[in-house]
Amino acid sequence: MSFLLPKDGGGLSIGIMGGTFDPVHIGHLVTAEEARQQFKLDLVIFMPTGNPPHKDRDQVTDAEHRYLMTLLAVVDNPYFTVSRMEIDSTDTTYTIDTVQHFTKLYNSQLTLYFITGADAILNITTWKDYEMLLKSCEFIAASRPGYSFGRLKEILGDAFPEVIKHVHLLEIPAMAISSTFLRRRVAEGKTIRYLTPETVEQYIYKNGLYTR
Ligand code: NAP
Repeated sequence: MSFLLPKDGGGLSIGIMGGTFDPVHIGHLVTAEEARQQFKLDLVIFMPTGNPPHKDRDQVTDAEHRYLMTLLAVVDNPYFTVSRMEIDSTDTTYTIDTVQHFTKLYNSQLTLYFITGADAILNITTWKDYEMLLKSCEFIAASRPGYSFGRLKEILGDAFPEVIKHVHLLEIPAMAISSTFLRRRVAEGKTIRYLTPETVEQYIYKNGLYTR
């Protein structure tokens, strides 16, 4: 990603869109586009998880499939790209390592945003080096409309005031859709047309994904 040059007189603003993307759907794409516009991001890098610390590997679709579906989904947006960084890692991948990689790459000229689901952020105090992570980037938490910081406050307790300074809530109506919903529909033989780009839909059928 080092081909990006800083804007005249200022630094770069990059969003890292972290997720399992099993599969990617329009909720993710709308979230990334909304974040790009609201936070004036120069680029959004989709980062499919490799070997996530919090999930059973057998329950997650092969990383190569998830990467290729994400690539198919973003290919027509010049502001979006997909990174293989986490899926190519042989170790467990932690967000702090990913964020530090990009911080080092761009030095101080970078404002980094980590974009993910609000439900994932609820557990942030269990993430590796979360205090350092909160100092290293800003968080954009995508939620369904009506989500409030109340639940986050309840769960984070004493950590809430520190965490909340770095978390920006983004309400995305399309986040009513979830990857679980798509997987279930495919398994039940129901259509997923318009819930994900057509290329992703065809990829799922061609490779027999989510049939059970
Ligand atoms: P998850 O628990 O599978 O997802 C939680 C919720 O967030 C789901 O509703 C999910 O919807 C939504 N979501 C996930 N990614 C999203 C995105 N980019 N935009 C909008 N909504 C999103 O979460 P996950 O996908 O495994 O993890 C999310 C990110 O947090 C990953 O980058 C992961 O590496 C990071 N993480 C890091 C640590 C750590 O460093 N220790 C621990 C946990 C998570 P869908 O199912 O529809 O996507």
